[in-house]
Formats: sequence, C-alpha cells, structure tokens
Amino acid sequence: PERVRFAPSPTGMFHVGSARTALYNWLIARQSGGTFILRIDDTDEERNREAWVDGILRAMEWLGLDWDEGPLRQSSRAERYRAVAERLVSEGHAYWCDCTRERVEARKQPGEAPGYDGFCRHRGLGPGPGRALRFRVPDHDVVVTDLVRGEVRFPAGSIEDFVIVKSTGQPLYVLANVVDDIDLAITLVLRAEEHLPTTPKAVLLHEALAAPPPRFAHLSFLVNDQRRKLSKRRDRVAVEDYRQMGILPWALLNYVALLGWSPGTDEEFFSREELIARFDLARVQHSPAFFDERKLLAFNQHYLQALPLAELLEQGHDHFASIGAFATQQATELLTQLLPLVVPRARTLSEAAAMSAFLFADPPIAPNEIEALRSESASWLGAIAARLGELERFDAPSIEAALRALADELGTSLRHLQAPLRVAVTGSRVGPPLFESLALVGPEATLRRIHALRV
Ligand code: GLU
Repeated sequence: PERVRFAPSPTGMFHVGSARTALYNWLIARQSGGTFILRIDDTDEERNREAWVDGILRAMEWLGLDWDEGPLRQSSRAERYRAVAERLVSEGHAYWCDCTRERVEARKQPGEAPGYDGFCRHRGLGPGPGRALRFRVPDHDVVVTDLVRGEVRFPAGSIEDFVIVKSTGQPLYVLANVVDDIDLAITLVLRAEEHLPTTPKAVLLHEALAAPPPRFAHLSFLVNDQRRKLSKRRDRVAVEDYRQMGILPWALLNYVALLGWSPGTDEEFFSREELIARFDLARVQHSPAFFDERKLLAFNQHYLQALPLAELLEQGHDHFASIGAFATQQATELLTQLLPLVVPRARTLSEAAAMSAFLFADPPIAPNEIEALRSESASWLGAIAARLGELERFDAPSIEAALRALADELGTSLRHLQAPLRVAVTGSRVGPPLFESLALVGPEATLRRIHALRV
C-alpha cells in the first residue's frame, strides 16, 4: 500500500494541472489500498490566502477526490521544522551564515560559477539576526530515481549549500516538505515537473535525517495549442471556471487522466473503478501534454448524454436554478420534459440551461435577428399566429399539422416558417425540436411572443 500526498500551495485558483496531480495520487492510493493525504503547503505567508485554501477543498470535494488524512496545514508545524533544523545543526549537517548576496558576489573571481561559495561553512556562527541556516551539501553525486524520467544524476559540486531556514526564522519549503514527507511516511512523491530541481536537495535532507527517501515521479507540464506552458494569464485553467461552464467533474477527471497517461489502447472513457484498475505510472510519458479544451468539451458531451435525468437535475442544479427552473413545481415539471430534447444538443450543463431558458421567460432577441427576420420572413408571423390561435389542442402533432397546411397554402416550406417562429419564441435559431418546445411554452406565451416580435 502506498502512502501518497497531494500538497497544493494556496497561492491561486485551483488549476487543471493540479487536478491531474491530485487524481494520479488518488488513483495510486486507491489502487494499492493505500492512503491519500491532503496537505496544504502554506508556509509562504505573503502569497497564501485563506480563500485559496477554501478553493482547494471545494475543488477536491467537487471532483470527488476524497482524502484519508488531512488537510494537514504546514503553517501549523513551525515548531517541528525548527526542531529538525536544530537537530541538523547539532549533527553538523547545517550551519549559520550571515553572508548577503552582495558579499557573496563581491568575493567571486571572474568566470567563477554562480552560487554560494561555502564561506561560513567553518566559521562556527551561532543563530542571530540576519543569519540564515544553510545545509552542508556533502561532496558526492546525488542520484534521483524518477519513475517517469528514469535516473537523473546531479554531480558532486553542482549543488550549493542551500538555505533551509531564512534569516527571518522561516523554514524553507524544501525543509518543510522533507520533514512532512518523513513524518507522514510518504512512500511515493508524485508532483509537477517544476519541483524536479529541488529533488536532489530533498534526497540529501533525507540522507542527513537518516530516513530513506520516497520514490519520486514528476509529471510534465500541460501546454496550450501553441505548445506554451498553460498559464493563468493566457489560458482558461481554473477548475472553478470549468465547473461554472457546466463541465461534469468526472468528465474533467477522465479527460485529464489521459494527459500524459495512456492505457496502451485507444480507449478513452473510463469509469472511476476502471481507471483505478487500469492506471499505471509506467505508462506516464515525460513529454508535455496538450490540454485541449475542445476535447474536454467532447468528453463532457459524452458523459452528459449518459446521465440519467435525476442526476442531470442534481448535477446541473445551480445552472437550472439560475434560469428559474425550480421556482415552482410546474417549472420543474416543464424542464423535466424539455431536458431529454435539449441534452443531445448541449456540450455543457450551462449550454443545456441556456437552451432551456425560454421555458421560463420571454427571450431577449438580438436586434440583428429582428433585422434579418424583417427582410426574410417576418411577414409570415401574422399568419402563423392566427393559425396557432385557432388550435384546439396545443400539442406537438397539432402544431406541426397546422403549420404544414399553412406552408402549403403560402407556397413555402415548413422550414421557412419554423425559422422566424423559433426566433420569436425561443430567441435563437438553433435549439430543441420546435413543436415540442412550443407545446411546453403553451399557447398564451407563444402568441404573446410572436406578437411582441412583430411590433
Ligand atoms: N506545494 C507544492 C506545489 O503546490 C507541491 C510540493 C510537492 O508536491 O512536493 O506546487
């Protein structure tokens, strides 16, 4: 059984890349009968916000990635990090240093490699204001075995004596992470590629603390259609944005599962259980993966079609509530009847809601639509209204029969009558089948909307 952790830093919106890291960790825990731990890496007081912590928890819950331990907050563990730092000093693995960056620079000979020169290594300074604690890097190669990338060797001398506690007394992220990973008995660290450069430092800290390092796996980053790293400035990356767009949580997870991992076949759709059974780190690639929003929409459409009505209403609750679908019993009833007609045409829950809104309110009609209808077909609307007004039964077959007869009389096609009628009643040129839609809207609202368009 693996003990894995997902350890986001609360410095911004929860990102689709984080969703993938969380998912892979979760899959490994579930697959191995192990433990999935949620840790909040909130040591950076300047960049952290409580709102981002809430965002992480909300996203994880929405995605259904349940954790077994945590959330553990790094901010609650300062004492522990301090104690470990003291132990490192007393065992000779760390030393105090009062060099400023400027002083280090000033000592350098032309052409000398950048980085700290070890000036304070043997000065035997104690703690004090302006003093940082540095790790005494031993003089040997460090080999990181990465399950995705293979062996990565960092030659002796390539790592400077790095800071583990700032002169402000704040422990550095690399120290906090190692202490936590040891205390949590983590067996596998699976995280984003950007952490690969600090991994040899983590390995050295484990060694100094006489703890066997966990195995590591670093996931390549996600790129956009221009092969540029996904970024919150350039791309839509926030899980919350996708939730608001009406993406289903499992559609998102199933899609991101395939960013960098492949089952080795061309299968694409997996249930939770299937993905747990099939996921395999050995099949994770190290090249960047393209996050294709169009593909995500196609996945979502697939899952949306398969959703039973009751679940559709539940998952889409907020979207449907926003169009007034739960205002009355009758409204909910109407939506329930329309949804099976709408869903085959929708890629997202918000599209399904937008396509259903005409049930509950007279739709806004864009001025350019009115212009277009005026020239092409609005003259028919009067005749249509008159004919529909005479109907005894306002159901789909009766509406269709009446309009067919009218089209014949006018020497035009049914299709030509449908276009202005659809715009008048639903506000759009595309949507669910028209006659059923009109039947649900009812005769009064239908006629009112047609008359309103004519004036
Ligand atoms: N807190 C780090 C991040 O949010 C992850 C650190 C780790 O997984 O070791 O990127």
